[in-house]
Amino acid sequence: MQIPADIKPADGRFGCGPARIRPAALASLAGPGAQVLGTSHRQAPVKDLVRRIREGLAELYRAPEGYEVALGNGGSTLFWDAAIYSLVEQRSAHGSNGEFSSKFAAEAARAPFLADPVIATAPVGSAAVPQPTAGVDAYAWAQNETSTGAATPVQRVAGDEGALTLIDATSAAGGIDADLAQTDAYYFAPQKNFGSDGGLWVSFLSPAAIERIGRIAATDRWIPEILSLQVALDNSRKDQTLNTPAIATLWLLAEQVDWLNTQGGMAFATARTQASAAHLYGWADAHELATPFVEQAFRSPVVGTIDFAEQVDAAALAKTLRANGIIDVEPYRKLGRNQLRIGMFTNVPTADVEALTACIDYVLERMA
Ligand SMILES: *Cc1c(COP(=O)(O)O)cnc(C)c1O
Repeated sequence: MQIPADIKPADGRFGCGPARIRPAALASLAGPGAQVLGTSHRQAPVKDLVRRIREGLAELYRAPEGYEVALGNGGSTLFWDAAIYSLVEQRSAHGSNGEFSSKFAAEAARAPFLADPVIATAPVGSAAVPQPTAGVDAYAWAQNETSTGAATPVQRVAGDEGALTLIDATSAAGGIDADLAQTDAYYFAPQKNFGSDGGLWVSFLSPAAIERIGRIAATDRWIPEILSLQVALDNSRKDQTLNTPAIATLWLLAEQVDWLNTQGGMAFATARTQASAAHLYGWADAHELATPFVEQAFRSPVVGTIDFAEQVDAAALAKTLRANGIIDVEPYRKLGRNQLRIGMFTNVPTADVEALTACIDYVLERMA
């Protein structure tokens, strides 16, 4: 089946990570960026990139006094282990509502030097916040559970002062706003809203988190160097990473952060993602064959999951779209639903989401 070219989105990439990268950012990578690729990360040109990222992110998220931006290699998955080594003192509590949030909880459960974590499990498609629990010194959940498209509010767990709040913002940051004062580690990787490539983690760290990192580093806990947030912080303060970073990833991230700030910062980003989401969920609500998967209150503005009626084969729909250059709308592999998952990150103009639903309509009308 051929979808007419004039109804197709300008760009067919709707994946949830790696996700769409702006052509202008790629052009700058191939232009002035080409002078920096293949050069030392201990010299000014690459250190300037790291500085631009750290300063630009602090501006984008209006970082409160004393918050710092740290970064290192390994992506958000590495950050979970770094947090277990460097931020959790004795026991963590987790909100678990899908693949990513459950992975962090499972990793904490395996750590031999920590007490078993407290895990508050919510059904997939709902939000999950851990409950206040005596003896817990770190609360963790995902602002946007990318596997299901459920967004959970970022607000400290009441009645537990002194405990840290660790927010996985991997698919949220740059597309959903947050008040950093409600967090101690607000961490992400740049291959989603930040339109860069994978392999890097970035985290805002509060003064309390920095204090905790230093205190744990001074104990006799063995911390592998690559997982030490103290080592990462010491390097970040010098606009460096512990070991060699992917310079292309840094370049694309720096370009995206600057672009977001020039466009109007998080107000610009959230206006765009909310407009895209309003269109997608409105379309699904009105469609007799489609239904938003997530409870209304928790529907993500950046990752839209749409269930289809039994008589629609969503896998075949995704396949037809893919054959027409509209790609990566398959559902999260382990969710096993008759569903499409649509990335509406900040780099996706709302017009492209509108074109996407027009293309889905076109295919649905001709599929049966
Ligand atoms: C993508 C994602 C991750 C994993 O990120 P990596 O950089 O691949 O380790 C973790 N958490 C969430 C919420 C994600 O969306």
